[in-house]
Amino acid sequence: MTGMIVKALSGYYYVRAEGEASDSEPVQCRARGVFKKRGESPLVGDKVHFSLTENGEGTVTELFPRSSELIRPPVANVDLAILVFSVTEPTLNLQLLDKFLVHIEHAGIPAVLALSKQDLESEGEFTEEAALAASSVNRIYRKLGYEVYGTSSRKSAGIRELKERLEGHLAVFAGQSGVGKSSLLNALVPGLTLETNEISNRLGRGKHTTRHVELIDIGGGYVADTPGFSQLDFGELGVEDLSYCFVEMRKLSPDCKFRGCTHVHEPGCAVLAAVEAGEIERSRYDHYVLFLEEMKDLKRRY
Ligand code: GDP
Ligand code: ZN
Repeated sequence: MTGMIVKALSGYYYVRAEGEASDSEPVQCRARGVFKKRGESPLVGDKVHFSLTENGEGTVTELFPRSSELIRPPVANVDLAILVFSVTEPTLNLQLLDKFLVHIEHAGIPAVLALSKQDLESEGEFTEEAALAASSVNRIYRKLGYEVYGTSSRKSAGIRELKERLEGHLAVFAGQSGVGKSSLLNALVPGLTLETNEISNRLGRGKHTTRHVELIDIGGGYVADTPGFSQLDFGELGVEDLSYCFVEMRKLSPDCKFRGCTHVHEPGCAVLAAVEAGEIERSRYDHYVLFLEEMKDLKRRY
């Protein structure tokens, strides 16, 4: 039989058989010893072959090839990242947004943006600054090809659209603490009651301290119950990878005069020319240079 691992806990893998209803109990499985010998380890999100044993449990016998592999949380085959940013509370920070995008692009996972807490606008909690930030997100990132969804968990706005977008995907939420990721998930899945940040914010630590991850079936798609890309250092990224993670630079790099152009000072740089011509957004380029410096600092220290 084939299925997907939806949860891993204490050496057991919980497999939802293909075609089974979302409210059916997954089969509790052990993994075949051969995985360990091969240095393989099944992950939540893995498509697997499994066989049933007499006691109603099962054995995972084979893993299908993975399309992607996240480390935090450990999930295979994630094919969509929902990058959540609130228009206010916390203040919209484009530099942080770009940093998240770099990491998501580096993982090779398509991203869509959710601008959350839209209800605060009508309640007058919106400063002029917040309104400006929200409109620049719409302008800058749509132009780059990212879809932007305006959402409010409190007013249930944009939830249906987001749910439709998730259809057929295995998605992970990303975004800084307090932007409303858990609230969005709760709004997407009737009956779901993930703990939200009211209390843990005050304690100054995240609420996702559990090490295991579970996939939430949202009816036609899956979402990991733990946010991804929470670690945003550039340790695993090479300097030459960085411009590749900015979609607009990725397209232009082949036009630069020098191979391995860092797009900072080189003559004949197509990226610099595009920045000068206003074709590349200044904030995006500034963040690129800032991240580049951050990476160089990091490399110097080791
Ligand atoms: P997370 O850390 O990204 O998972 O954020 P949470 O879902 O825990 O939400 C953080 C805080 O923002 C909580 O106090 C929520 O009540 C609040 N919040 C979440 N979504 C909304 C929303 O759509 N509108 C408003 N006004 N507040 C929200
Ligand atoms: Zn260049």
